[in-house]
Amino acid sequence: MQPFLPFTRPSIDEQTIAEVAEVLRSGWLASGPKVQAFEAALSEYCGARPVRTQTSATASLEHALLACGIGAGDEVIVPAMSFVATANVVVRVGARPVFVDVDLSTRNIDLDQAEVALTARTRAIMPVHLCGMPVDLDRLYALAAHKRLRVIEDAAQAMGSSYRGRRIGSFGDLVCFSFHPNKNITSIEGGAVVGGSPEEVRELELHRFHGQMKTAADAFETYFAGGKANLTDVAACVGLGQLRQLESFNARRRELAMRYFQLWGEDPPLALPPRGDAGHNWHMFAARLPLERLRISRLQFIEAMAERGIGIGVHYPAIHLFSAYRALGYREGQFPHAERIGRETVTLPLFPAMRLEDVDRVVGAVNEVLREATR
Ligand SMILES: *Cc1c(COP(=O)(O)O)cnc(C)c1O
Repeated sequence: MQPFLPFTRPSIDEQTIAEVAEVLRSGWLASGPKVQAFEAALSEYCGARPVRTQTSATASLEHALLACGIGAGDEVIVPAMSFVATANVVVRVGARPVFVDVDLSTRNIDLDQAEVALTARTRAIMPVHLCGMPVDLDRLYALAAHKRLRVIEDAAQAMGSSYRGRRIGSFGDLVCFSFHPNKNITSIEGGAVVGGSPEEVRELELHRFHGQMKTAADAFETYFAGGKANLTDVAACVGLGQLRQLESFNARRRELAMRYFQLWGEDPPLALPPRGDAGHNWHMFAARLPLERLRISRLQFIEAMAERGIGIGVHYPAIHLFSAYRALGYREGQFPHAERIGRETVTLPLFPAMRLEDVDRVVGAVNEVLREATR
């Protein structure tokens, strides 16, 4: 039996491990020189824009909304298909998430529907580059400019993606990345907000550290009762080591994704993602099962794959069908594409340390399970 193949796994190199050991010996563990260096390196990567790290993308998104002054009485446009954090942060700042459906193939926000969902209370739109596939940002930013909306990009999955040759994060309004271990680069836990006016950047700094700022060598001021979401130097050191490898990680992901397409050719037994263009970072390879033609459920498919030593992920259930959002009045049937993706989606293994033979193994197992299960 071959070793179990998870759907994702981080790659930490020996150099990074040695550098983390140095940080641990240095006497400075919380936010210090490594956090500054990580922010500087991210800023350089994003075209010299301001970067403020946080302990997660969730904190980054929440603080970005707060820095824009979004709160009670405001509406924020959010796709119904994403990780739940995208909508949770809107609720947490006191605003209302207004869901819109996604395109069935790209899984990204349907901008026609976003336009229809706008009201006098809409303050912002939060596009999500799902699986690393960039949203049509030219059209989105044209709409935002026309309606005077802020844009908070949930780029948690989009590190290293680009839109029309420009890196995600190097342009646009406020762009939030995640460095969770499942993402294309990790700092164990971590996130960052890229962009913002000097006033907004200051707000982000306050929100990540008690609402407090040093005003003199012996004095602090606390402007509001803030929380705490500052990154540690240990985490930043891991992030720096990962950022060095981002391009090679993403090149490897692309190679593996292309192997899936190559092996399945013109007639795959499940709905594959669009091939994307050069700007896709292949954060995930998410397909849809043809459940109407199968005698097994998705759960049974996942179990059959696990029996063959292969891990399958589910990204994601439609957000509006969670009880927390049904409680806001959302119902089944409102966003058919998001609901269908939520029922049918399966994430196949894809991570930089995978071998091409691992892709062959996954394709062989999927073909076998689906052949046996077809009506
Ligand atoms: C992972 C993820 C988040 C949350 O990131 P954390 O760093 O774990 O808080 C938010 N949105 C999307 C789309 C994600 O994939």
